Amino acid sequence: MASLRESGWEYLITHFSEFQLATIGTFIMHESVFFLSGLVSIFFERAGLFSKYKIQKKLNTPEAEGRCILHLILYHVGVNFPVIMFSYPAFKYMGLKSSLPLPPWTAVVSQIIFYFILEDFVFYWGHRLLHTKWLYKHIHSVHHEYATPFGLTSEYAHPAEILFLGFATIIGPALTGPHLSTLWLWVILRVLETVEAHCGYHFPWSPSNFVPLYGGADFHDYHHRVLYTKSGNYSSTFIYMDWLFGTDKGYRRLKALEEQEGKQS
Ligand SMILES: [Zn+2]
Ligand SMILES: [Zn+2]
Repeated sequence: MASLRESGWEYLITHFSEFQLATIGTFIMHESVFFLSGLVSIFFERAGLFSKYKIQKKLNTPEAEGRCILHLILYHVGVNFPVIMFSYPAFKYMGLKSSLPLPPWTAVVSQIIFYFILEDFVFYWGHRLLHTKWLYKHIHSVHHEYATPFGLTSEYAHPAEILFLGFATIIGPALTGPHLSTLWLWVILRVLETVEAHCGYHFPWSPSNFVPLYGGADFHDYHHRVLYTKSGNYSSTFIYMDWLFGTDKGYRRLKALEEQEGKQS
């Protein structure tokens, strides 16, 4: 008997073409996951919930948040959607499929782990490059307009950066030609990961407290609140690239100081 997962998938592939699912389907799924998860931290801020877990005490004005949302809708329709449309033939060429049976979990998990590691590596070097003077001034400063990030600021960036760092997200699946369901799972996890890194809250249940080598909100929030030449913490997901290349020294010093103060008080 087909599992619920498989019958759900069968419904999709009998009602829509692979092209529709891989393009419009991917776009709708990305938008839903991104906005639903991204709005959570704005809701927490407005309702004054969990304020003791907020990393920075500063709040963004509703106007600044509204401006961010407006830009996001514009860029998603004008940049992300065309990228999804034009990358479909490349994915197809590399072996993307949507037929049943669904791939086994072992294949899904190993591919997703590979995508995370590769994305983090490419993102780290791309992001370091974006912190050089010219690129920062003309491109990356847009993403840094929000020194106090909230979930939705994760994808708030100059269109050139969306293309540049979007490459880091799609290079893994583009190389391996996965099943469309694996590609969707990757998009969902990557969005949740970057929204969490920008949410501005460090909870006792935040993944960085449990997942080894995971950066998370506290790690990336530091990157946003410190001057761009001194911030470090360039990785998207993990902490080892910054540790290996010595770009987490400022952050580590701060953590050591906080720990010392904690012990004294
Ligand atoms: Zn940056
Ligand atoms: Zn950021």
